[in-house]
Amino acid sequence: MKRAKMKGSHPLLKPALEAAALAALLCCVTAAVALVMGLSGQRLMTLYCVNLCAVLAFQIFSGNSGIVSFGHTAFMAVGAYVSAWLTMPTALQRTALPNLPAWLAGHELAVPLALVFVLLAGLALAALSGMPIARLNGASASIATLGFLIVVYSVLAAARDFTRGNQAFYGVPRATDITLALIFAGLFIVAARLYKDSRYGLMMRAVRDNETAALTLGVSPQRMRYVAWLISGGLATVAGALYGHMLGAFTPKDFYFHMAFIYVAMLIVGGMGTVTGAVVGVGLVMVLQEVLQEFERGFTLGPIQIPEIFGVPIVGVSLAMLLVLWLRPAGLVGFVEFAQGWFGKRRLPQVPARETNTGTEPLRIERARKSFAGLTAVDDVSFTIEPGCVTGLIGPNGAGKSTLVNVITGLYPLTSGAVSIGAQNIGVLAPDAVARAGVSRTFQNIRLFTGLSAGENVAIPALARGASLGDALATADSELAFVGLEGAGQKRADGLAYGARRRLEIARALAAEPRFLLLDEPAAGMNPEETDDLARRLKGLPQARGLGLLLIDHDLKFIMSMCDHVVVLNRGRLIAENTPAGVQKNPAVIEAYTGTRASRVSAQHNVEETATTKPRETT
Ligand code: ADP
Ligand code: MG
Repeated sequence: MKRAKMKGSHPLLKPALEAAALAALLCCVTAAVALVMGLSGQRLMTLYCVNLCAVLAFQIFSGNSGIVSFGHTAFMAVGAYVSAWLTMPTALQRTALPNLPAWLAGHELAVPLALVFVLLAGLALAALSGMPIARLNGASASIATLGFLIVVYSVLAAARDFTRGNQAFYGVPRATDITLALIFAGLFIVAARLYKDSRYGLMMRAVRDNETAALTLGVSPQRMRYVAWLISGGLATVAGALYGHMLGAFTPKDFYFHMAFIYVAMLIVGGMGTVTGAVVGVGLVMVLQEVLQEFERGFTLGPIQIPEIFGVPIVGVSLAMLLVLWLRPAGLVGFVEFAQGWFGKRRLPQVPARETNTGTEPLRIERARKSFAGLTAVDDVSFTIEPGCVTGLIGPNGAGKSTLVNVITGLYPLTSGAVSIGAQNIGVLAPDAVARAGVSRTFQNIRLFTGLSAGENVAIPALARGASLGDALATADSELAFVGLEGAGQKRADGLAYGARRRLEIARALAAEPRFLLLDEPAAGMNPEETDDLARRLKGLPQARGLGLLLIDHDLKFIMSMCDHVVVLNRGRLIAENTPAGVQKNPAVIEAYTGTRASRVSAQHNVEETATTKPRETT
């Protein structure tokens, strides 16, 4: 992609300023609490800032990937011990850890310098542990993070020469004062926000919202999770070192389940999806813990003596978390960041010049077959999709049209047969590789990235192709205008009307600059005006962009007016292939499809029903 002259500010400037505003607010609150409450206020705010660093490190992974992690306190433990080894006074180290290997002993580094090594150690540990964990998704990934925590805890508890095992590790310089904690909290706020709005953060959130769609747009979910794990693991290790230098003495247990649970609760109460949520969640849960600790100690209420009740704080935090999950599943601040919109709209560079794809090679489907247990959904189908043309794919409901699209885009592996573009056999590729080979699609059941704005949705495939963030967002604006959604770029995708969501998905597929675009019932559920409008916009597309368009629809009028060439499927088999006029005259087609009006009506009804209910796993 040729880069046009840059105009406008860097697209990360706005989120950076918003994050800075949040950090400034934190400074003010800290100063106020320290002034009013004196020394105890200072101690409280130091703890708050350190907790915030930890929770922000959690947030970078969990908030953007949607995978709740219990493993990040393992990084914190490692950070605390590594920093302790590097900074302890030598004399103290000799008595506390007489068997510490010579290469690790007697360094007595200054804390800021030690933190550099801590970060490196954290990155190394994350690079290693991320390899298996990033392959997983959802609940399995969550459980893997728990396994990671248990492994690290066990190693630390067993390595007595290094950690004193379950005995207190003492003599760690208490270097984390309110100033240091506040500086790091500010840095972490900015880092978490920059990551969230960076190209990697955006692609990670796309995977979170719809992994299948992200895959078919060329995003590698595994790679995105690895990057998120790496950054958050590195930062969690630094947060752990700060925690260690605040306590001065600790055991591996201090970083175990209890701590992980409290941090997850903070994240969930505030809202995993935002940086502001972390700031709010840490504060609320800490206040709740402080209040409930008073209860735990027992107190007198008039004539009644309330006895000590052990475990009140943790039970209270659990209940608060359940309440939030029940009433506000996205958390108290689930979507909107503090100061969002204070610094105007994101200014974008000029639309980068688009290279017209001058592909001449057709997409060839040869004897494709796809069987599910006992059912052959696509049965020995061969045809080609020519660049510069509109190929229609019709057939009654259940004929195998969507299955064929899933086969071409790599979501379903072929049972037999081949799919190729020129000499390249794309039938063996993973969906993200098929996307990179130039095939893009929409889904019969819309699959948007619901937590992203419309513009960000469309920017994802451009980012996956390697465009800069500014260029990708500018491309998104021009594709949105192409489908008639100009001005809707800032709106959240799930806030759009049904027809607009369909068009948004088409804009997103176009932003991948495909050589072949497969639209699975793009007009389903649209009213006649919307359908006409869509037809007008799609008509010149193959010529203008040199792409091959495969159009699936139930509406024969729509198909006949749009297509150069029509392929008819019935029960998985190709029963006709001709010009629109020729297909309409074909007796087999009339019998299977056009002739039986009643079945057509019911078929259409079914489509609308599936389109508005919850989407199936992959359609
Ligand atoms: P169309 O898009 O033409 O309406 P589909 O391709 O969705 O048809 O479905 C073709 C057949 O394959 C149907 O009988 C459907 O039930 C079946 N099918 C589709 N996907 C799956 C799947 N993942 N597992 C099992 N059967 C499936
Ligand atoms: Mg279908």
